[in-house]
Order: sequence, then C-alpha cells, then structure tokens
Amino acid sequence: MSESPAVVWLRQDLRLADNPALAAAVASKRPLIVLYVLDDETPGPWRMGGASRWWLHKSLAALAADLAKRGATLTLRRGDAAKVVPAVVRESGAGAVYWNRLYEPHARTRDETIKAALKKAGVTVESSSGALMFEPWMIRTKADQPFKVFTPFWRACLQQTTRSLAPAPRKLTAYTPSLPSDTLDSWRLVPTKPNWATGFEPLWKPGEAGALKALDRFLSGCLEHYPDARDQLGTHGTSRLSPHLHFGEISPLQVRTATESAAAHEPRLQRGADKFLTELGWREFSTNLLFHWPTLPEQNWRDGFDAMPWRDDNAAFEAWTRGRTGYPVVDAAMRELWITGYMHNRARMIVASFLIKHLMIDWRRGEAWFWDTLLDADLANNATSWQWVAGSGADAAPYFRIFNPVTQGERYDADGAYVRRWLPELAGLDNAYLHNPWTAPESALADARIKLGETYPHPIVDHAMARERALAAFAEIRNA
Ligand code: FAD
Repeated sequence: MSESPAVVWLRQDLRLADNPALAAAVASKRPLIVLYVLDDETPGPWRMGGASRWWLHKSLAALAADLAKRGATLTLRRGDAAKVVPAVVRESGAGAVYWNRLYEPHARTRDETIKAALKKAGVTVESSSGALMFEPWMIRTKADQPFKVFTPFWRACLQQTTRSLAPAPRKLTAYTPSLPSDTLDSWRLVPTKPNWATGFEPLWKPGEAGALKALDRFLSGCLEHYPDARDQLGTHGTSRLSPHLHFGEISPLQVRTATESAAAHEPRLQRGADKFLTELGWREFSTNLLFHWPTLPEQNWRDGFDAMPWRDDNAAFEAWTRGRTGYPVVDAAMRELWITGYMHNRARMIVASFLIKHLMIDWRRGEAWFWDTLLDADLANNATSWQWVAGSGADAAPYFRIFNPVTQGERYDADGAYVRRWLPELAGLDNAYLHNPWTAPESALADARIKLGETYPHPIVDHAMARERALAAFAEIRNA
C-alpha cells in the first residue's frame, strides 16, 4: 500500500453506498482522509439556509458513525474550500483527491480552480458523477443543444444507459495519524435559542439509513397509488426523499434501481413507478437547466419578465411567510413549512402562485424564503420551480394560469384534513366554509369559535381583483 493518502472530499454525497468518488478512492489503495468542508464563503447569497444546516448537522453525525463502523474517521474543516482542500493535501502529503461533481455555478468555478491548482502540484484529481443519473452535457437535442423542454429531455434520458451501482465498501483504511478536525458542535448548525427546529426532530431521520428507510416505506406503501395520492394535501402519498436526495444520502440511481425492481416484481406498481421516475426526471431536468443557464436562480429565464411591475409590499410578504394571508390552504402550507421544514409539492405550487400572482411579489423573494426554510432547499430545483410557477422559466406554466386558492383547497384538501392540521384555529369550521371562511354565516363562525380579523385574518387580497391585476400586468409585459 502506498503511504501517501487519498482525500475523499464529500459534499452533497453524504453516503457510503453508490458513492463513485469513495469507490475510486478505495480502489486507489491509498489510506483515506474523508473530508467535509463547511464552505460558507464560496456560495455568496446561496450560503446554506437555516433548515438545511439543521439537516447537515444530523447527516454528518450519522455519516461519521457509519464511517467509524468501517474503520474511518470524518475530518471536518471550515472555510473557503479553495483554500482548505489544498491545505489538507499539503498537511497530509496526499497524492490524490476524489469528489463527486456538483452543478451549482459557484461550486463549478471553485472546483475547477481547485482541480487546476492540485494538478499543477502533481496531485491526482478525479471527479465522478454521483448526484445525477445523466450528466448535463450527455443529454442534447438533435441540433446538439441543451433541452429547454422537459418531455423530450426525459425521453432522451431514458434512451441512455446509466453507470452501474457502486456497492458500499465493507472496510475502509484510514490515514493515520488522523488530521486535526473541528467538532461538529462547534459549527453551531442546530438552533438553540430559540430552537425553531423542534418540529423537525420527530419527522425526519437524516443520514443514509434514514434515506433507505424512507425509500422502503414509500415503495412498499405508496408507490402503487402515487399518481393520484401525490396531489392530495392531507395524505402522506409521496416519498419525502427530497432532503435525502439533496444531501446525497441516497443517489437517484439507487432510487431508480429499487423502484424498477419493485415494479418488475409487482406489475401493478408499474404506473406508479413511471410517474415517480418522471419526478426524479424533473430533478435531472432542473439541474440540466441550472448547468446550462447558471443565472437561473437570479434572473428571469425569459427576459420579457424583467419589466414585470413587482410590488414591494413588505406587509403582504410577511403575512405570506407567517401563514396569515386569510386563505386557509396558503396559510396551512406556510405553517407546515415553518414547523416541519417541508411542504407538499401541490402546496408549494399554490403558495408560490399566490405570492407571485395574487400579491405580485417578485418570485425571487419567495425563492429566498424557501431557501432558508426548506430542509430540501436545492438551488436547481428551487430556482426552476419558482420560475416555472412564475411563467418566466423554461418549459414554464403559462403566466395566465392563476390558481384560485379556494378551489385548489377544495379539490386537493376536500376533507379539510390538511387545513385542520396546520390551522387548528379553523378546525371547528364546517367543510363547506373551511377554504373560504369569510363566506361562512356568523352562526357557523361562532360555533367554531372563530372571529375573523381576530382569531384568523380576513383575506389580505381579493381573489377576483388580484387575478385581474396579474393578468393586466402580464398583458403589459407581453405587449412591451
Ligand atoms: P416525490 O413526489 O416523492 O418525488 C421524488 C423526488 O423527485 C423528490 O424527492 C425530488 O428530488 C424530485 N422531484 C419531485 N418533484 C420535483 C420537481 N417539481 N422538481 C424537481 N425535482 C422534483 N424540490 C427540492 O428538492 N428542493 C427545492 O428547493 C424545491 N423547491 C420547490 C419550490 C417550488 C415553488 C415548487 C413548486 C417545487 C419545489 N421543489 C423543490 C420540487 C418538489 O416540490 C419537491 O421535490 C417535492 O415536493 C419533494 O417531496 P418528495 O420527496 O416527497 O417528492
């Protein structure tokens, strides 16, 4: 065995199974330094948000324990990775560095700089594909352009073969002596005063074992009915794998392989499997867009939207963030987000549409709020989805499709379970008025102990007026 160690630099791939960078490092037969760098400097405004930091803490703790079982340690360092990684290489005399690729623009620039510097110093650097099934440069139109529309993109993906799964190494040989490491607690990733994350604890199990468990639960209990149940707000009909996928505790290839195998054993699962894999396809598509259009998180993809007369209404924005808009389905969703760090996909579309179209507030403010509060905050998925709802993105929903929050609530939360769960102050209201309490007769409100304007707000904006206002604004930018 060569004594010069290999550094495995883990980032959004906090797992041992199907980790191509780790597998390559093990294959090098060098003793390993497994490194995680908390880099708050490179991402600029996209520094990891509060909820994500909570997840990161738990996930790194789980990873460190998994590594220890196989004989390795996790070295933690903080700072600009462009300085930290070469410093670790110098300190240890490492001869090779391995990582799985990231696609965020700031990470790509940083990684290219690190790669060039290390190679110049004679260090082997190998980057692998671990976060996606299909590298963005692999999937091109017949005219050799990146895809801008999802359906043909995904069709093209499904014609490609994928790499094989890399099994988890049984044993790891750690480099000794181990390098100095920060303690996880010293990073203060979990909130204390106040601890706004108490609602996260019972719901989530960050780490590789938690990811596999979530996948198992979904495949055995939800896959069959996924195409219909995924839109129902009050049911737990989706996988809730998004934070696990974002942090790379499980790879999309593992998810796809397990899903296809479940459907191969039970043909009745095929319809659910196809739909579910299409959603994973949206994840690939979003990253593909970010890769080819790196300004996606900050700039309208369709520049016609630059002229949109956004309103600078801080009071309305605050009411939205706090779940106090007076529209129950919007408020339930915003409170679900605050309490659990998660929001149902249908609800994300409803609240995003409400912010952009009813309140005429710039989608970037909503994007930033989600960035800070979602456990699955992901630059590509978040930016693509916000622009999709706004109508400013590639393959976006048309701007004139304006969700009516009352009918959306009635359709996707027909029994009111979702609203009652997150808005206990409305729990006693009859279903007939639950999604539009302002239409309830005084007696129904009194029976349910509701005083509009006191225990629950009046709507902060009138739906019909807001709809006309948004359509007029859109007509204006279209004709400009
Ligand atoms: P499932 O339905 O079980 O889907 C499986 C996986 O497919 C998800 O875990 C996710 O990785 C991927 N996926 C599903 N839907 C989408 C989608 N529309 N776009 C991209 N990938 C998708 N997802 C994030 O992971 N991070 C975000 O920051 C994020 N922000 C969003 C913002 C808005 C305004 C909207 C409308 C959607 C956003 N999404 C985001 C997409 C989607 O809402 C979540 O991925 C999904 O709700 C996660 O729940 P799940 O894991 O149970 O999904």
